[in-house]
Amino acid sequence: MIYKRSSALFKEAQKVIPGGVNSPVRAFKAVGGDPIFVKEAKGAYLYDEDGNRLIDYINSWGPMILGHAYPPVVDAVVEKAKKGTSFGMPTEIETKIAELAVSMVPNIDKIRFVNSGTEACMSAVRLARGFTKKDKIIKFAGCYHGHSDSFLIQAGSGAVTFGSPNSPGVTAGTAKDTLLARYNDLENVEEIINSNKDEIACIIIEPVAGNMGCIPPVKGFLEGLRTLCDAHNILLIFDEVMTGFRLAKGGVQELLGVDADIVTFGKVIGGGLPVGAFAAREEIMNHLAPLGPVYQAGTLSGNPLAMAAGLAMLTELNEKSEVFDSLAKKTEYLHEGIAKVLIEKNITHTINRLGSMISIHFSEKPVVDFESAAAGNNDTFKKFFHGMLDQGIYIAPSAFETWFITDALSYEDLDETINAARITAESL
Ligand code: PMP
Repeated sequence: MIYKRSSALFKEAQKVIPGGVNSPVRAFKAVGGDPIFVKEAKGAYLYDEDGNRLIDYINSWGPMILGHAYPPVVDAVVEKAKKGTSFGMPTEIETKIAELAVSMVPNIDKIRFVNSGTEACMSAVRLARGFTKKDKIIKFAGCYHGHSDSFLIQAGSGAVTFGSPNSPGVTAGTAKDTLLARYNDLENVEEIINSNKDEIACIIIEPVAGNMGCIPPVKGFLEGLRTLCDAHNILLIFDEVMTGFRLAKGGVQELLGVDADIVTFGKVIGGGLPVGAFAAREEIMNHLAPLGPVYQAGTLSGNPLAMAAGLAMLTELNEKSEVFDSLAKKTEYLHEGIAKVLIEKNITHTINRLGSMISIHFSEKPVVDFESAAAGNNDTFKKFFHGMLDQGIYIAPSAFETWFITDALSYEDLDETINAARITAESL
C-alpha cells in the first residue's frame, strides 16, 4: 500500500506540532516510518488520506468497541450538539450516565466524570491520599496510568517506547512517593508494604495490564493485593481505563471477582469523546469537593456531547451484553489463527489474551511482567508491524501496547488478518 499523502501531511505537521503528533505513540517512533493520517472511519475500517482501507486493531486505543461511527453514538452527539455544546452547569444527562454506570459496575455508589483517563487516575490517587491521610502510592513497572507526574515512574506505553519511563520534569520530591513493584509478584508488594509501614495510601494497578502489551494477572495476584490492602488500611485502585466496559459490563471486578475500592475509567465510557471517570463507594466519594475537602474540578467535565456519546455507548453495552462473549470469541479466533501461522514458520512468539485484549511479543518465555515484556525481540516486532501495515492491517505500533478488538470485525476480516500474518511471517 502507498502512504504518500500521509507522509506529506506528517512533514507539514512536524513544522507546527512537536513530532507532528498530539500524543507520542502516534508518531511510529518504536517501529519506524511515517504515521498514517486518517480521513474517516466506519465500523472496523479506517480510510486514510491516500485512499487506503485499513482493518483497525487499535480502535482509537480502545473506545470504539462497537466500531467507528457507530450510529447510536453519532446520532446522540449530533442531536445534543444542536442544543449547545457546553454550559458549565449541571445537566440531567450527567445523572443518567452516572446511574447507568453505577448499575453496571460492582462496588461503586457514586462516580465523577472528568475529561481523560489521566485526570481520572490523578484524581483517584488524590482522593485515596485524602481519605487515608497517607502519602505514598504503589504502582507497577510497565503499568501506565496517564501522564500525571506521580505515574511517570517506570511507566508503560509510549513512555517506554520513547525511552522515558521516568520523565524529566517529574521532581524527585514527587517520585519519592511512588513506590515501584513488579507486576504479578505478590511477595514484592508485601516487602514494599512492610518497609513503608502506615505510609501507603493506595495501590494503583491495571488489573489486566495493557500498556506493556497485554498481561493478565496470574491466579491469586489480585486476590492477594486485596488481602494486603485490607490488612494494611490501603485503598486498592483498579485502573479500568482500558478494561472497564470492555472485558465485561462491570470490568475486571466482575470478570475476575475481585473488589476494588476506587475504579477509574476512560476510553469506552466516552464512546470516542474525551471522557474519564472515577468511582467508589459513598464513604470514599463523599470526601470530594463540594462535600469534602479533596479538591477536583473541570470546566468541561460532564460536557453534554461527551455525556451523550458515553450514555449511548453504555446503553448499547448494557442492553447487548452478549457483545462481550462475541468479542472474546473473535479475539480467540484471531489468536489461534495467528499462532498457527507463526508456529508453521517457526517464529518464536508469545501471545497473551484476555477477552478482547490481545498482543504478541516475539519472545519464547511467558510474558508476565515488564521485564519479560521488554525481553521480546523488537526488530521482529517492527518487521511484523510493517508487514501487516503493507497489507492494510493496522495493529498497535509498539509491542508495549495491547490491540483492542472491535465487535465490528467480521470473521472475513479476521481471516484477512490471519492471511496477512501468514504472508508477513514468511519474511520474518
Ligand atoms: N490508564 C490506562 C490503563 C491507560 O491505558 C491510559 C491511556 N492509554 C490512561 C490511564 C490514560 O488515559 P488518557 O490517555 O485518556 O489520559
